[in-house]
Amino acid sequence: MTNWTLAARAAKMNPSAIREILKLTDKPGIISLAGGLPSPKTFPLADFTEACATVMARDGATALQYSTSEGFAPLRQAVADFLPWNVHPDQVLITTGSQQALDLIGKVFLDKDSRMLVETPTYLGALQAFAPQEPIAVSVASDDEGILIDDFVAQAGTGADKARLAYVLPNFQNPTGRTMSEARRAALVAKAAELGIPLIEDNPYGDLWFDEEPPLPLAARNPEGVIYMGSFSKVLAPGLRIGFLVAPASIYPKFLQAKQAADLHTPGFNQRVVAEVIKNGFLDRHVPTIRALYKAQRNTMLAALEREMAGLDVQWTRPVGGMFLWVKLPEGMVAQNLLAAAVERNVAFVPGAPFYAEHADPRTLRLSYVTASSDEINTAIAALADAIRTTA
Ligand code: PMP
Repeated sequence: MTNWTLAARAAKMNPSAIREILKLTDKPGIISLAGGLPSPKTFPLADFTEACATVMARDGATALQYSTSEGFAPLRQAVADFLPWNVHPDQVLITTGSQQALDLIGKVFLDKDSRMLVETPTYLGALQAFAPQEPIAVSVASDDEGILIDDFVAQAGTGADKARLAYVLPNFQNPTGRTMSEARRAALVAKAAELGIPLIEDNPYGDLWFDEEPPLPLAARNPEGVIYMGSFSKVLAPGLRIGFLVAPASIYPKFLQAKQAADLHTPGFNQRVVAEVIKNGFLDRHVPTIRALYKAQRNTMLAALEREMAGLDVQWTRPVGGMFLWVKLPEGMVAQNLLAAAVERNVAFVPGAPFYAEHADPRTLRLSYVTASSDEINTAIAALADAIRTTA
């Protein structure tokens, strides 16, 4: 690089640990349990082909023109209709992936050194999205049911230092796969309202439950106190980059202004194609097929872990939906160091450390059960167990 002077925030932008690891998966023959990629088997290709043709034939010129920053009205309506609380379409902002919603939330809420609260651990991509604003991300103690309310209160800060937001993933969390319990949801919503801290509820996986629907979203309990984020990435296809944000009417204009400045609008063609695909109850038919596939793959991985990790001091979560589970290695082991031994045995995973805002637990790692096939999962977990045995 030349000797150009970059903004201080540029120094805070780091390559995604996951993208770095995904480079390893280029190695021929490697089985990757690392990426967060939905299974391409679930992409409804024929429906998309038909929808693209319909959109072009019906209103191609409009679809290819600039359009409004709020998003395509029928898509906003569809989002408002499928959410399980009373949402007006005017509260829905279509975003370029829900990742963009995180960026907009950071721009609207955070200054340099603003305090913000996250779960332990949390979605790495959210930490990255907020990082350019240079906030202080505070890691709130969390257990299998989600964020601990006592620590939420203890870390909330006061006066000028009060947390500007708390970012949480109640359903099948990335990276741990855990789900916030009914009681914890109720308590968190009440406490956040009492303290005046907005909750940012990120819910890209909520529809991917296996046996029963998760408890109601936080936003359904207190729509005025929650900014809700959703996505079509995990129920349709991520390459379209269609996500959304639902905000209380009072703050919506700020998100709209941030969105306008960021990219004017989300691609109109993609929005129309999604609206076309999902009309007439398509998701009600399609999503159960994703659930069935991912549940079978989860079962395969859990069974493989039981079998292969026998006798090793390894712990793992048992997700009831979503794409990931979280592993804790034996005392003294470091997941980052295990990775080389795993890659030698043709298996890749993501070390857990980058998912912590502070105080990373080096023994943790994330496994995805959705992209590899069942046979590959069995092979990969056996190889991982072998790597653990020889490294321990
Ligand atoms: N939030 C979480 C928790 C995620 O796991 C992801 C995708 N990995 C996103 C947001 C972003 O998804 P998208 O931009 O594709 O909607």
